[in-house]
Amino acid sequence: MLRLENPVQPYAWGSLTAIPALLGRPPTGVPQAELWLGAHPSAPSQVVGDAGLDAVIARAPQALLGERLVARFGPTLPFLLKVLAASQPLSLQAHPSLAQAKEGFEREEGAGVARTAAHRNYRDTNHKPELICALGRFHALCGFRRLADSVKLFRALGKPLAERLEQDGLRATFQQVVTLPPADQRALAFATAEACARRPAPGFEAECAWAVRLSRQYPGDVGVVGALLLNLVTLEDGDALYLPAGNLHAYLEGVGVEVMANSDNVLRGGLTPKHVDVKELLKVLDFGDGPARVLRPSGSPEAVYETPAPEFRLSRLDVAGPVELARRGPELLLVMRGALEVSCGEEVLDLDQGESLFVGADEGPLKLFGEGLLFRATAGAA
Ligand SMILES: [Zn+2]
Repeated sequence: MLRLENPVQPYAWGSLTAIPALLGRPPTGVPQAELWLGAHPSAPSQVVGDAGLDAVIARAPQALLGERLVARFGPTLPFLLKVLAASQPLSLQAHPSLAQAKEGFEREEGAGVARTAAHRNYRDTNHKPELICALGRFHALCGFRRLADSVKLFRALGKPLAERLEQDGLRATFQQVVTLPPADQRALAFATAEACARRPAPGFEAECAWAVRLSRQYPGDVGVVGALLLNLVTLEDGDALYLPAGNLHAYLEGVGVEVMANSDNVLRGGLTPKHVDVKELLKVLDFGDGPARVLRPSGSPEAVYETPAPEFRLSRLDVAGPVELARRGPELLLVMRGALEVSCGEEVLDLDQGESLFVGADEGPLKLFGEGLLFRATAGAA
């Protein structure tokens, strides 16, 4: 069992207080957006008393990851675990499929775009399915709303977009909107936000309120209009969303635990000062419409969030007495509340709130004692 120290990402949308509170540290006045647990080379966890987790794994991948995982995903940890704390909305985004990521990466390599360049879309050859699990209430936009409902929303706003949606469908309308000349995009974004503020569409008051807030943060960004085509989802504590390739989404506000494949491939569609490549985004978007599916975990005491992702599996344990965990390859453990004792063979470690461990594939079953809420990330079933 390896104790970890985890890097914090200070992105501007981050909460000033949530991650410091989890870690039991005073706020620094700087936003703390994400706590990363894993072996991503750009910000690996540090193994206490040793090196970065990526370097530690590179010394003994077969032992720490297991032969099956190394054969499938190579000698690196296939998943990354994060605590995400958003006090402001994140960009409108989607992630490519494995085939799209491979093709895009090769294309940009071929064109000589530096991997660290701001306009680089594909930073690796991997897809990035992700799962976000809410800690307390969490607001997000996820997938296109049922077309008929979006028509109703825009009709109530008195916008011609309603007719276009009805006639041309989602794909063509979305494409038209995001490829308008910049001045027309700005005018449409302002007019839409203004309509939302003046006379919110009945039944869509919360959606309109978010559009007004997004417009205030990104004035004239046509992502405001795109956001109004998506499902507004409010997750309660323990609820989760799975975001497969092509799903257009944006996290709006809240704290969550997120697990994802080890990739950095993001295609943005607005609501960000970062690079936006609409042409590339349109290639990967899934225009299937319908309500977002909220995932609830099943099983006790280990409650598992089932997804089709082969790279990861997230579970949570409300520990209130001894629990024994069978091993399933390498894993990350993070205590979100309370204090636990984790034993493995002869070794026993105390884990307080905010503390975490990496356990290699070659170690035996784990026993948990104490009381607390634990998140566990392992590889998926494949
Ligand atoms: Zn995402």
